[in-house]
Amino acid sequence: MELAELPADLTLIGGGYIAFEFAHLVARCGVAARILHRGVRPLEHFDADLVTHLVTASREAGIEVVLDTAVTGIEREPGGRLRLRAESGGQAVDYSAAMAVHAAGREPNLAALDLDRAGVAHGPAGVTVNEFLQSTSHPDVYAVGDAAASGLPLTPVAAKAAFVAASNLLKGNHTPVAYGVVPTTVFSHPPLAAVGLSEAEATRQGLKFTAKSELTTDWFTARRLREPVSAYKVLVEEGSGQVLGAHLLGPNADEVINLFAVAMHAKLPARELQKLVFAYPTSASDIVYML
Ligand SMILES: Cc1cc2nc3c(=O)[nH]c(=O)nc-3n(C[C@H](O)[C@H](O)[C@H](O)COP(=O)(O)OP(=O)(O)OC[C@H]3O[C@@H](n4cnc5c(N)ncnc54)[C@H](O)[C@@H]3O)c2cc1C
Repeated sequence: MELAELPADLTLIGGGYIAFEFAHLVARCGVAARILHRGVRPLEHFDADLVTHLVTASREAGIEVVLDTAVTGIEREPGGRLRLRAESGGQAVDYSAAMAVHAAGREPNLAALDLDRAGVAHGPAGVTVNEFLQSTSHPDVYAVGDAAASGLPLTPVAAKAAFVAASNLLKGNHTPVAYGVVPTTVFSHPPLAAVGLSEAEATRQGLKFTAKSELTTDWFTARRLREPVSAYKVLVEEGSGQVLGAHLLGPNADEVINLFAVAMHAKLPARELQKLVFAYPTSASDIVYML
């Protein structure tokens, strides 16, 4: 889409990472962006505290973030604008938009394949597969990526699964899929990144851990890069000293999260990670203060 073709305002339906990324992108192009999310908390899979900071930063960037509001229908009005019908707290509410974008979740695109006719078991998350990415009901069928009910619907996860499935197809079922530690990022401004367990999940699992968390807006990295909001939360297991989860909001969070992923994959205790000297002044050099 040419910049000149962007609408004056755009509403994103859903409050997931795609909605936040598009909203931040178009807002910086002068478009009035609005996110309509049905839950009370957007980006449900990310740390609640960091999401609160990102929502504040989003609103300060001019993005209207509307929560607890479920879109129930869309109509085109005579003048060409869209009317979005929604429900909030039991009340009907309408929004007007020049453009509306569906960002309320993706489904595997399997309907046209008529899998039931071929006896290929599937569900809402895709083709039902075993650890070798082979259909549980049809041994001649393998599935990977968004089409398979296996792993997170992310590009590197799909790529890893493709290597595993190709190997199993060619050499027989010798390689079980193991996705390991998978970092994810919301490419907003600033980015929000996560790897490993959330605080809520670690608590639910009954793990003993310390959660270190800080608003780092006045740290040198954020000030140097003129980033108005920056924060982190890192969970370290008591006893093993290993990082259970890392959650970053701020400049270069999308890159720094990979270092936490390496440490978690290598089962490097936090105190070992803290001994490293990182190039300065990179965002990664802040890691030692987060542990
Ligand atoms: C807006 C958006 C942003 C995203 N951002 C990120 C991100 O930042 N990082 C990340 O890791 N992931 C991201 N994702 C998710 C990522 O794109 C997917 O997880 C990844 O592309 C899955 O790879 P795939 O090969 O399974 O499917 P796809 O990449 O969707 O490829 C499937 C291909 O199959 C073709 N196809 C479909 N049906 C048929 C058929 N019947 N016959 C033949 N061909 C068919 C399609 O045309 C397509 O080319 C994003 C997704 C979206 C929608």
